[in-house]
Amino acid sequence: MISICSTPIGNLDDVSKRLLDTLKAADVIYAEDTRVTSKLLSKFNIKTQVRRMDENTIEKQANKIVKQNKNIAYCTDAGTPGVSDPGLKLVREARINNIDIEVIPGPCAAITAYVASGFTSQQFFFGGFFPRKESDRIKALNKDCLQIYYESPKRISSALSTIAKVLPERKIAVCRELTKIHEDVQIGLANQIKPIEKGEIVIVIDKPSKEELKENYNKKIELCRDLDLSKLSTKDATKLLQLCGISKNDAYKLTI
Ligand code: SAM
Repeated sequence: MISICSTPIGNLDDVSKRLLDTLKAADVIYAEDTRVTSKLLSKFNIKTQVRRMDENTIEKQANKIVKQNKNIAYCTDAGTPGVSDPGLKLVREARINNIDIEVIPGPCAAITAYVASGFTSQQFFFGGFFPRKESDRIKALNKDCLQIYYESPKRISSALSTIAKVLPERKIAVCRELTKIHEDVQIGLANQIKPIEKGEIVIVIDKPSKEELKENYNKKIELCRDLDLSKLSTKDATKLLQLCGISKNDAYKLTI
């Protein structure tokens, strides 16, 4: 059995009984960083042996590990393995080889930040780490729903400048050091966020307002007005415009 173990994202008291039981019962624990996982094990007096399996070795090690016929527990540095860390490579290998796996659910920084933001959207887009290139950031931000990104303290100030430029009216939540002593959630427009120098960060960007959605839609209609659809039948032109996100009614009106 391979147990994919979610671990605390800062506050070690966020462990579950099931996590501790699994770590105790495992034949061996594989960890992204043995030093990080050992802190958790020593706090709860768990003596199971720990071996390293990090981003550079998981591709090679995973196949052998899943075939060992042992109870293996796997922990990444923090949170739910597989969410923006190497964890999914082990799960994929287990699935390919029909090896039983179980996921021990637990903390995840993205979900904790989503709730902490207080933005009331039932849907969200999780983009992993915020893109580094300005052009990729601008493309990524063009979404009609709440967005969640991980970001490093080194890049947060440049990330905030891009968001301020592309979405100046949009509320965001910058969630730092969640569950830790210095937890801090700043909510406001991107240009209102106070400078951040260190710590782990999640950025939550609220969904667009109804007015913003309407404005975006009208911009799309204006762009579509410039398309030369004369070579298409009314039916095909309507379908094409619908694929561009125009409603059936408006697409038909534009076509005729
Ligand atoms: N698997 C993890 C999870 O479930 O959240 C995420 C791993 S990813 C390699 C690490 C990133 O998660 C950090 O760079 C940071 O953006 C975010 N993160 C992790 N712990 C955090 C915390 N306590 N507060 C805010 N962000 C955190």
